[in-house]
Amino acid sequence: MHVASVTASEIRITLEVAIELANQLVDGRFDGRRVLADAGFTRAPKASEASIERLRTRIDLLLPLITSLPGMDTETACARVNEELTELPISPAVVDHDGVGPHIHWTPATATFDDQVVSDVLMALAQELCEHGTARFGRCSASACDSLFYDATRNNSRRFCADRRCASRTHTADHRARRRSAV
Ligand SMILES: [Zn+2]
Ligand SMILES: [Zn+2]
Repeated sequence: MHVASVTASEIRITLEVAIELANQLVDGRFDGRRVLADAGFTRAPKASEASIERLRTRIDLLLPLITSLPGMDTETACARVNEELTELPISPAVVDHDGVGPHIHWTPATATFDDQVVSDVLMALAQELCEHGTARFGRCSASACDSLFYDATRNNSRRFCADRRCASRTHTADHRARRRSAV
């Protein structure tokens, strides 16, 4: 039986976290602790306020990169990610804890929480660019929504952000338009 790779699912989860935090900041809010805790970042619930605040600032600095990923050519994205990676305290180790199975931690346990999260995000992005380029980053098709999404579907068919209202109001509008044209 094929077991989904821990690495592949960690990349997806980490990129979805980065997208969610970027969408929040564009909306003028930031709930990093909850988003990270929900995604299984075990240090999130006890992380200091200072490191959550630093994380907000650092994701904010990455916003120009993250928000332009949909449609950005892969070569440019790689160059931008490499610039960011040079600044980080990355020191990989294979670890196994909490029954997850062997996986890589990019930062040592002594890293600050914000260093850990920013390193995880950039390494997930680096691996994603090697695997799929920028093809899986998209922008919501609903009118009046610019939110980003990460498309983990097999056939690249995702159209809407994580806000369910975007899909449902677009489908309702499509349905009404079809009914009008059918009358
Ligand atoms: Zn781990
Ligand atoms: Zn949307």
